[in-house]
Amino acid sequence: MDYKNTLTTCVYCGAGCQIYVETIDGQITGVWPAKTHIISEGKLCIKGWNVTEFVNSPDRLKTPLIRKEGQFVEASWDEALELIASKLGAIKNESGPDSIGWLASAKCTNEENYLMNKLARAVIGTNNIDHCARL
Ligand code: SF4
Repeated sequence: MDYKNTLTTCVYCGAGCQIYVETIDGQITGVWPAKTHIISEGKLCIKGWNVTEFVNSPDRLKTPLIRKEGQFVEASWDEALELIASKLGAIKNESGPDSIGWLASAKCTNEENYLMNKLARAVIGTNNIDHCARL
């Protein structure tokens, strides 16, 4: 039996409570709050206790979908990212960088939100970036 407790961060809000995800043979078997974490101090809200429920959901998207002739069709990540880059590039060229806006998410880590900020400001060239917590 391969038993692991992996320290990670709850993805449901910006409080960023740390949790241990317990797995046995690669299957999630439990979630435990990190007692020494500065925010959670050994406690979690109901969302945190159930944060892993989506992992094995049959409704979970595991591959990008691209709309073709009105239908969503599975695509590779390369194909999806190429399409996004070409569409954003065309919009930027046609209407300028400030015609594009970005919405980051409290469900992402600080590092992911930082990268979103860099993508908006350094790559696209716009300050139009906001966060779902302000919506
Ligand atoms: S456990 Fe609750 S309060 Fe903590 S990060 Fe998750 S959703 Fe937010």
